[in-house]
Amino acid sequence: MVNTPITVARGNGIGPEIMDATLEILKAAGARLDIDEIEIGEDVYKRGCMTGIEDHAWETLRKNKIFLKAPIFTPMGGGFKSLNVTVRKTLGLYANVRPCRSFHPFVQTHHPEMDIVIVRENEEDLYGGIEYKYTPNVTESIKLISRQGSERICRYAFEYAKANGRKKVTCMVKDNIMKISDGLFYETFQEIAAEYPEIESERYIVDIGAARIASRPEDFDVIVTENLYGDIVSDIAAEVTGSVGLGISANIGDEFAMFEAMHGTAPDIAGQGIANPSGLLLGAVMMLVHIGQGDVAETVHNAWLKTIEDGIHTGDLYKEDTSKKRVGTDEFKKAVIERIGQKPSQLKAVSYSDSTGALTMPPLKERKDVQRELVGTDIFVYAKDKDVGVLASEVQPLVREGFHLSMISNRGVKMWPGQKPESLCSEMWRLRFRGKTGPRRVAQQITDLADAGFDIVKTHNLYEFDGEPAYSKAQGE
Ligand code: NAD
Repeated sequence: MVNTPITVARGNGIGPEIMDATLEILKAAGARLDIDEIEIGEDVYKRGCMTGIEDHAWETLRKNKIFLKAPIFTPMGGGFKSLNVTVRKTLGLYANVRPCRSFHPFVQTHHPEMDIVIVRENEEDLYGGIEYKYTPNVTESIKLISRQGSERICRYAFEYAKANGRKKVTCMVKDNIMKISDGLFYETFQEIAAEYPEIESERYIVDIGAARIASRPEDFDVIVTENLYGDIVSDIAAEVTGSVGLGISANIGDEFAMFEAMHGTAPDIAGQGIANPSGLLLGAVMMLVHIGQGDVAETVHNAWLKTIEDGIHTGDLYKEDTSKKRVGTDEFKKAVIERIGQKPSQLKAVSYSDSTGALTMPPLKERKDVQRELVGTDIFVYAKDKDVGVLASEVQPLVREGFHLSMISNRGVKMWPGQKPESLCSEMWRLRFRGKTGPRRVAQQITDLADAGFDIVKTHNLYEFDGEPAYSKAQGE
């Protein structure tokens, strides 16, 4: 059988220790791999490369397509880019898959039945990195949600559920507040769910959903959610399984995939030979399934389960009543290798023999065109220490024919017309002009305000799609 080429990065902190252990176990289990190593992270940043990854490393990643990565250190501040985010975005790794399973009674947890997989959208949302500072005291971060991105991740969750014998997919959103962006995500989820009638689907508002993961994780199966919510709920889920050392993170795209442990470089224990290599090893198991080596994945995973069941635990898992032997990284690795070919007797053994490798995703749906009409514009101005009544009286004479000034808001709260609420005001005001006047008039209105000395910091056009408003109302509007 032919070997699969993969790229490996040993990373920083405990990275090299856990990667050595992982690769030795894979080799002992007969993994059919050709490994190219790249250097990324701390030393690369120190050489002045702001992204932590150099051009020749990209070439290797693009050639091999599969990446097994140890944790890396990202310097805070100083303009350095997060390498994890850079790799995910550059290689189009849109799905972040994080299985969180209980290994009760061998790893202490209050939730023995828990077995969740979180599918997190990996490219959009507030992680688009689209941020602005408009005035000295007002900033904005854009939460970008597209139908294409939502469709792809929701479908991935259902396809994952189907391929892995899962029964239910839960969507977590906050569409009661973010009706347009989270509303789109949930609407798309419902559309995709209808194509998989054999799989149950449900929705949770993310705040109560996160609380429920902490208190009753056994109620969930597969969870699909946006980027930021996914970041938070997967950390909660990993925490309640009982150990950060066991969390896995698979990042999947159409062409490329990256597998890693969920934890970081653990600088407090680096170089001591005591780190738990399990997160990275289980990430490597997911990689083997992905590249069609389900046989080796099954061997490695079952040997690992048997080791855990035999009470051979690294310090992060060790408890007097559930563990038999406290071991370091090297001894743990040897214990797993000794158990190759064995299966656990109490923990459920895994089977990947039917696995068909990477999920095949259909192309995105064709979408019918919608009628889009320009119905006004929001013009944001910087006006320090301004009374809203005075501001309105200065703007009104400048309102062009075909428009009317329908409201002025501050921090999303309507301030004019009508009674002014007791809300704090910043120096950035939103002037809402309504009128179906066409784009030229909108541009002229902006010019008129600028000519009159208004300091315009941004504008947003208001549209209707098929006659439905495609913008939010201000609080109180
Ligand atoms: P961390 O996950 O490195 O450590 C948190 C705690 O968990 C520490 O007490 C650590 O000793 C323990 N721990 C983590 N992994 C362990 C393991 N395998 N075995 C035993 N104990 C383990 O989180 P942190 O301290 O917040 O971050 C440290 C560094 O890691 C930061 O520079 C951060 O940027 C980086 N980081 C990288 C990644 C990644 O590359 N994917 C992810 C998270 C953090």
